[in-house]
Amino acid sequence: MTSVDAGQTARSAEHIALTERYAAHNYHPLPVVLTDGEGAWVTDVEGRRYLDCLAGYSALNFGHRPPRLVQRAREQLDRLTLTSRAFHNDQLGPFAHALADLTGKEMVLPMNTGAEAVETALKVSRKWGYRAKGVAPGEATIVTMRGNFHGRTTTIVSFSDDEVATADYGPFTPGFRSVPYGDLAAAAAAFDDSVVAVLFEPVQGEGGVVLPPDGFLRGLRELCTERRVLMVADEIQSGLGRTGRTFACDHEGVVPDVYVLGKALGGGLYPVSAIAADTDVLGLVTPGSHGSTFGGNPLAAAIGHEVVAMLRTGEYQERARRLGERLERGLTRLVGRGLDAVRVRGLWAGADIDPRLMTGRAASEALLALGVLAKDTHGSTVRFAPPLTISEDEVDLLVDRLTTVLDEAA
Ligand SMILES: *Cc1c(COP(=O)(O)O)cnc(C)c1O
Repeated sequence: MTSVDAGQTARSAEHIALTERYAAHNYHPLPVVLTDGEGAWVTDVEGRRYLDCLAGYSALNFGHRPPRLVQRAREQLDRLTLTSRAFHNDQLGPFAHALADLTGKEMVLPMNTGAEAVETALKVSRKWGYRAKGVAPGEATIVTMRGNFHGRTTTIVSFSDDEVATADYGPFTPGFRSVPYGDLAAAAAAFDDSVVAVLFEPVQGEGGVVLPPDGFLRGLRELCTERRVLMVADEIQSGLGRTGRTFACDHEGVVPDVYVLGKALGGGLYPVSAIAADTDVLGLVTPGSHGSTFGGNPLAAAIGHEVVAMLRTGEYQERARRLGERLERGLTRLVGRGLDAVRVRGLWAGADIDPRLMTGRAASEALLALGVLAKDTHGSTVRFAPPLTISEDEVDLLVDRLTTVLDEAA
């Protein structure tokens, strides 16, 4: 028994039991029941406070309930929330313009969740392949990377190599070809005339914050240009400030053909996603050929527009860069002292716990008992992605708590 279980009172237990009884078990949450959040901190039903170092898988890059976004959402809630795209609304145009500017692309297509944005990118890439590249009907192939995470739809899990995520969900969607992450030669070998796009994460987040080898993004860009293949960057988790740049592709000065965005685009208030591309790609979308009842709704557009405005200042990217260096220094000191390895890009770290000490899950539970929320991935890795608004002291607190957990397990 961890101290969390021991200290759990009847109130937490009751909420957990109710959730377990009536909500399907598609997650295995840490045993904490949250009620309130402000900035980087959340409070549980017992009144205990925790530093949130997961930040909704980077949907909460600006922290919990950032006042500027809450204010903008409130104003919009009092005016208009949904029109459907059967009519225009006065929020979508300005949001689309701002997001196109931020990405440097000519157009955007708004959706809601990340998976829908990925689906949109896949559909539009295939269409581009047939209409612009001249691929034979029904032959379009999309290259993906092993260890990927792009969402949960039937088509998206078709190219996942996570057995838990795919078991019993077949038959799967054909038309995908997978290569090892970061392997440029393998990508080049996989690019035949049927290939319309390569879908990749500039940093594999769910995979454990896996960084591509230096030069991989640039090499992939050159390869895509040379072979006329769309470079589709899933920046749903890596984008919008997390890595210290607006997009993780910026680290190699690379501009993909299609950006896939989500998570932080809704500021943690609301699901907002989009893809951004030039008109040679997005201009192929015609009325009725794709859509979403909620995509581009005025509430989503108002929030998304404010998020883009916040990113325009560069303040969050700068914080991620500066605080990320501090996090990296702190975590690197623990390598050989309970950690096997750390990978850091901006304010985003994957820390591999020495499996002889404890599992990632056990480390996350021990951190929870010390007031830090983080989540394990792939057995022995713990991921840290706190809100970009945290202070230097809070970064130190995170490192300090992890040190305690590792020391106590040694
Ligand atoms: C979270 C995530 C998705 C899926 O987003 P949802 O909003 O959960 O559908 C897709 N790609 C990446 C890289 C992600 O991190």
